Amino acid sequence: MTKYFDRSGMEVSLSAIQCVNDVKGTAEYTYRVVCNKCNGRGERNHFYKSRCMVCNATGYSLITTRTAYTLDALRRSYPAAARKVADAEFRAKQNAVQARYSQFSIWCETHQNLLDALTAHTVKNNFLDSLKHTLSRRHPLSDKQIAVAEKILGLK
Ligand SMILES: [Zn+2]
Repeated sequence: MTKYFDRSGMEVSLSAIQCVNDVKGTAEYTYRVVCNKCNGRGERNHFYKSRCMVCNATGYSLITTRTAYTLDALRRSYPAAARKVADAEFRAKQNAVQARYSQFSIWCETHQNLLDALTAHTVKNNFLDSLKHTLSRRHPLSDKQIAVAEKILGLK
């Protein structure tokens, strides 16, 4: 799915995207500023309800069509904004890796007996070796793998 961004690098919701130009990598979206007098309701509560005079009861003080850009188009037109998007995506990926690693270390702590027995088991065993390989890549073992390993290692 193509993502679109405004010229500051904020992602524009796909539901707001229209008039896509695939060649230029641009699209249009409706930019709305909520009226701060009626808070988008279009009417104001005084002693009685009345139409908001500030926004003519539309609820918005500004409704305008703006240009959205694909990341490539943003890079061409607003390189600084494109860098911001790339940096944010990089950080999100790093955080995801970090989260997986800390999940894995919690998993290791709760399976310490099994891990110790696996390390102590030095006799060649294809199944156990494949588990060691999985663990070396910081992936937890499945319940089924654990059950079989515990049987081989005599833990259960
Ligand atoms: Zn208003």
